[in-house]
Amino acid sequence: MLNIDLTGRRALVAGVADDAGYGFAIAKALAEAGASVCVGTWPPALNIFMMLLERGKIDKARELADGRTLEFERIYPLDALYDTLEDAPDDIKNTRQYKDVGDFSIDGLASRMVAEFGEKPLDILVHSLANAPEVKNPLLETSRKGYLAALSASSFSLTAMIKRMGPLMRPGGAVLSLSYLAGERVIPGYGGGMSSSKAALESDTRVLAFEAGRRYGLRVNAISAGPLASRAARAIGAIADMVTIVAENSPIPEPVTAMEVGLVTTFLCSPLASGITGTVIYVDKGYHTMGIGASFATLQELQEKDKTKR
Ligand code: NAD
Repeated sequence: MLNIDLTGRRALVAGVADDAGYGFAIAKALAEAGASVCVGTWPPALNIFMMLLERGKIDKARELADGRTLEFERIYPLDALYDTLEDAPDDIKNTRQYKDVGDFSIDGLASRMVAEFGEKPLDILVHSLANAPEVKNPLLETSRKGYLAALSASSFSLTAMIKRMGPLMRPGGAVLSLSYLAGERVIPGYGGGMSSSKAALESDTRVLAFEAGRRYGLRVNAISAGPLASRAARAIGAIADMVTIVAENSPIPEPVTAMEVGLVTTFLCSPLASGITGTVIYVDKGYHTMGIGASFATLQELQEKDKTKR
C-alpha cells in the first residue's frame, strides 16, 4: 500500500504562533506522517504561543490520529525580515518582545539548528508567513515603505531562507510556501502590496526551483490556498464573509480546511512528489477555475428566467 512515511525527516515550519493557521495544520500533518517538526515563531507572537502551549489551550488541536500528541522539537524565535541580527535596527532589538529571545534572524535560526542537530539538520522547509503593515490600504493608497515591507516579509523572506538553509538541507529536501489567488486575480481588500507579494512569491517559486534544484537538489513548490479565518486573515477583515462567498461559488461548495492544505503539503514534501517542482498547486476546492462570481443557485435562477422569456 502506498503511504506517506516521513519518519527520520526533520521539518521546519516558519510561521506558527497558534492552532488556527495553515502553519499549525501543516506541522500537524507532517507529524502525522512521522516527521519531527521544529517551528519558527515571530517574536511578537512568541509569548502568547508559549502561553497557549503551557496552559494546555491547544492540547486538543495537538492530538494526532494515532493517539500521539504533536510535540514541537524546537520553537525558535524568527523574524524573517532579517537575514542576520546585524540587519535588525536597535529599536527592534531592544523591545520587550525581542531583547531576551536570542538571535531571531534567519541566520540565527539556521546556526542554532546546526549547533543542535549537526551540519545537515533539515529535510523540509515550510514558509507559512506573511505580513504587510498597510494590508488594509488599497494598492493606490499604499506607501512605498508599506509596499516594500510587504514584499520583504512575505516574499523575499522565502529567497533569504533558501539562501541560508538550502546548504543545510539533506538530499531529497523540499521547500513549500503558501500563496493566494490574489497574486494572479483581483481580490479587493487584499491590499498594502500583499497581492504583489504573492505574485512575486509564485514567480520566485519557479526561479528558486531551478536554482536550488541545480545547486542543492531541492524541490520548491507553493500551494495557493483558499481563504481561512486564521489570525493573520482576521487582521485583514471580512474573512468570515470571504470564506462563505468562496465556498458558495466553488465547484466543491465547502470551505477549504487547514488540514487539507496540511495534507497536500505533506504529499509535496514527500518522496511521492519527487517529480514535482516549481509548481503552484491550488488547494481551494476548485474556486480558481470559476469564471463567474455567481453562486450556482443564482445562475440556475437566471437560466430559468431566460427560458420563461423565450
Ligand atoms: P497565521 O497567522 O497562522 O500565519 C502567519 C504567521 O506569520 C503568524 O504566525 C505570524 O506571527 C507570522 N509572521 C508575521 N510576520 C513575520 C515575520 N516578519 N517573521 C516571521 N513570522 C512572521 O495566518 P495564515 O493565514 O495561516 O498564514 C500563513 C500563510 O498562508 C501566509 O503566507 C498567508 O499569506 C497564506 N495564506 C493564507 C490564506 C488565508 O486565507 N488565511 C489564504 C492563502 C494563503
